[in-house]
Amino acid sequence: MSTTENQPSANFIRQIITNDLTSNKHNGNVATRFPPEPNGFLHIGHAKSICLNFGIAQENQGTCNLRFDDTNPEKESAEFMKAIEKDVNWLGFKWTAVYHSSDYFEQLYDYAVQLIKKGLAYVDSLSAEEIREYRGTLTQIGKESPDRSRPIAENLTLFKKMREGDFANGDYVLRAKIDMASPNINMRDPALYRIRRTHHHRTGNDWCLYPMYDYTHCISDAIEGITHSLCTLEFEDHRPLYDWVLEKIQISCRPQQIEFARLQLEYTVMSKRKLAQLVLENHVHGWDDPRMPTIAGLRRRGFTPTSIRDFCERIGITKKDAWIKIAVLESCIRDDLNENAPRAMAVIKPLRIVIENYPDEKVESLTIKNHPQKEEMGTRNVPFSKVILIEQDDFSLEPPAKFKRLIEGGEVRLRGSYVIKCEKVITDEQGKIIELRCSYDENTLGKKPEGRKVKGVIHWVSEQQSLPAELHLYEPLFTEANPEEQVNFMEVLNPKSLTIVTGARVEASLANTSARNRYQFERCAYFCVDTDSRAEKLIFNRTVSLRDTWLK
Ligand code: ATP
Ligand code: MG
Repeated sequence: MSTTENQPSANFIRQIITNDLTSNKHNGNVATRFPPEPNGFLHIGHAKSICLNFGIAQENQGTCNLRFDDTNPEKESAEFMKAIEKDVNWLGFKWTAVYHSSDYFEQLYDYAVQLIKKGLAYVDSLSAEEIREYRGTLTQIGKESPDRSRPIAENLTLFKKMREGDFANGDYVLRAKIDMASPNINMRDPALYRIRRTHHHRTGNDWCLYPMYDYTHCISDAIEGITHSLCTLEFEDHRPLYDWVLEKIQISCRPQQIEFARLQLEYTVMSKRKLAQLVLENHVHGWDDPRMPTIAGLRRRGFTPTSIRDFCERIGITKKDAWIKIAVLESCIRDDLNENAPRAMAVIKPLRIVIENYPDEKVESLTIKNHPQKEEMGTRNVPFSKVILIEQDDFSLEPPAKFKRLIEGGEVRLRGSYVIKCEKVITDEQGKIIELRCSYDENTLGKKPEGRKVKGVIHWVSEQQSLPAELHLYEPLFTEANPEEQVNFMEVLNPKSLTIVTGARVEASLANTSARNRYQFERCAYFCVDTDSRAEKLIFNRTVSLRDTWLK
């Protein structure tokens, strides 16, 4: 059972919030936000941040905004915004309001003018490369730009001209005037604005200068009245700048930034830039390819929102980076599907069986439980007839020790059906098994056979009524646990990440199934109906194996 819905586990952020509520630090308010950049689809790492931000708001009767951090127009799009909204909703969360950093462009500009007037920002004509050179290093203090002493009036005129489009990209930047000798490089006169003569998917051609992330984020938080601005650890060194901006401009709200460790998951990559490369170079079939660690990919693969929330709860929130094993994610969906997925039968590599003593034209409709333990999940009718298909692997001519399936002269139970006995093995000229001739014991439907024990139970489908299906089997996208450690992560792409199995047969009850339905194909794995599946061509995606295959 997931603990998400009940009692969330304690972590250092929840502790901070409890303390703040006790001391009435933010007037007893809890306001969070989830601030994705709309430059790609959300991934499982974002789910961690979503569960944290929305979860904390829910637990404290607070608010949580969805804020699109759209200050890099070249890489962002309305299509990505739509996908992000869909994914947050699908995970089960509702935002209090949706905002965009671009909603604040005018206010952000006015605050920048305030900083210039206070002598706390200046227009610099150094090139990007020169700025980098002047910035210094961890062991060497920075050098002041010659423009640092530009008079306020001149800064105001130039900044206005930057806005009006008088200059080309890179001609000028607006920088905060802080401290070129600061041990924190982020405080060495960071850029606040740069010129980008680019169309923006929301503000069109209104702007040709765009604010930088660090400057935009803290002010957006303050405008929205955010109390706790939760972000990942790489922003720890940016916190002094976050606080500096809010202290210097005239704004009353003081959000507090708190950092936590990013999710790092083995055998995949998580940065949107790298995921975009996989999509653009066609290594996967789109952002929702079931091999992708995106929310859309996991959804198509068959993951449930509950399983992803459960995963985020199990990994917890800490200050320390750690690698999470795929097995952890898989066990969350396996636990959910074990409880909730109806059972069905599918034969992946069929072997034909003719039941010689079964009437030729007879078709029986057997009633089989949809879940072995859950009566409330009901039953379904499965046709049984003279010719059935079983798994090739469930028969052996030279059985290893303890083989509990079908052998020559041996008996086995067909799931939800009769006990059959293998009377004869038909082979072709090369000795390949092409068919088994069996008999059935008509007194074994729902009853134990008399005078003998039959141990094995195997799955089957009736040949005539069964339906052809294509199965998509997935393996990790990469062959190394940490692909980003490689010089080029593309070199450790797994060439066998997708196997398409044709020739499988599934039971007739699946004829009218629809996309995203999930099943346990008995004794095989958990599968989900793919979004491209059609009645005339059923496609199932393997979500996860029945047992942990990472243990070996
Ligand atoms: P990416 O490199 O994947 O694009 P990002 O941090 O640039 O990541 P954003 O869209 O800016 O992506 O992230 C939105 C929010 O999600 C941020 O608060 C960010 O800290 C958080 N987030 C992103 N990746 C992870 C992760 N792997 N684990 C936890 N939180 C994450
Ligand atoms: Mg980002």
